[in-house]
Amino acid sequence: MGKTFDLSLGIDADSLASCVSCGLCLPHCPTYRVSQEETASPRGRIALMRQVESTGVADDTFTDFMDECIQCRGCETACPSGVPFGSMMETTREALADQTKYQPKYRRLGYSILGMPRVLSIGSRLIAVFQRLRIIPSRLALPKIPLRQTKLKASGDDVWLFTGCIMDAWMRDTHAAVKRVVESTGAGVRLPGNDAGCCGALHVHAGLTLKAKKLGNKVMTAFPGTNPILVDSAGCGAQLKNYGHLLGTMKAEAFSARVFDVHEWLAENLEKLPKIKSNEAPVIVQDPCHLRHVQRSHEAVRLVMNRYIETIELDDDGLCCGAGGAYSSLHPETAAAVRSRKLESIDRSGGRKVVSANPGCMLHLQQAGVSAQHPLELIDSIITRAMNSE
Ligand code: SF4
Ligand code: SF4
Repeated sequence: MGKTFDLSLGIDADSLASCVSCGLCLPHCPTYRVSQEETASPRGRIALMRQVESTGVADDTFTDFMDECIQCRGCETACPSGVPFGSMMETTREALADQTKYQPKYRRLGYSILGMPRVLSIGSRLIAVFQRLRIIPSRLALPKIPLRQTKLKASGDDVWLFTGCIMDAWMRDTHAAVKRVVESTGAGVRLPGNDAGCCGALHVHAGLTLKAKKLGNKVMTAFPGTNPILVDSAGCGAQLKNYGHLLGTMKAEAFSARVFDVHEWLAENLEKLPKIKSNEAPVIVQDPCHLRHVQRSHEAVRLVMNRYIETIELDDDGLCCGAGGAYSSLHPETAAAVRSRKLESIDRSGGRKVVSANPGCMLHLQQAGVSAQHPLELIDSIITRAMNSE
């Protein structure tokens, strides 16, 4: 037993009692699949939460077991008893962050920078320069960050495009491709500018709920009106859809009701997309956990892709790829072990190219040599090529 300390989790008794220990979630848990240890399974983690809640005492190993959860929520979709594992884990992390040194100052500073678009932009440019000078260690496995940012210009106000923090600083070309696809339906796209910034998803994962709430309130003011808000990152979309629950206000509920993963919106507007014949080879669809297990809207990606291109399914029931927001940086070994199962599934599928609707998953797969891109980057290239050849 490690060092002990007092801890009050604050998880409601009904949630803790809802797990009947059937174990049906175990094969869907990536950390259990890798370690085969009960404490790395949803059932084992819930048992530990119950124990801490009843005794009011935890130890360092409890913190480690909770921290090693990827928060993929594959256990939630697999659970026949409707155990709200995601919110139980978020409450546990919040208690650890509030009552212990679970989140040290340097990490809190890192998370704070995500909410400062200007600092993030300057920092990203510096990293881009250091990458060109080859003084960024390759073990950090960062994507190649652009030296200059593509400028995004508003084209109307039918829908908003949420641009976020890291994705906007590092992968704005993906936003540009997504915007072109949305515009190809005839819709005008409005942009939030720097006022929106970070959605707070990584803060919730880290237990920094108060900071996430502040960011949520800031984001909401950047999207006035009632028009739909389209999101091209599954993790951010899940967070924006959860503002009603996080902030507990009618205003936040109304905001969340306006949020759509961009594929959901396109699936509703399929007939407005250009009619184009494509002879592109079939692609593998990798479902980000926050699209499949949290938003539960992963079928929309297939509907949109299948308008132009055949899709190939993986045989792993949507098992996590190991990216998990900041998880792959904080737990690189487990993240790589989880990813190797995804790579085996990709190999078995017979396909070559992968599409993934979450930038974190996309980068995590690219770092293992997989040819992965955002689904709408591929659709954009198909539409653009067809238009240019007319
Ligand atoms: S979380 Fe659900 S599936 Fe997993 S052991 Fe508990 S009741 Fe069974
Ligand atoms: S959220 Fe994912 S990693 Fe965590 S216990 Fe559930 S299935 Fe396992």
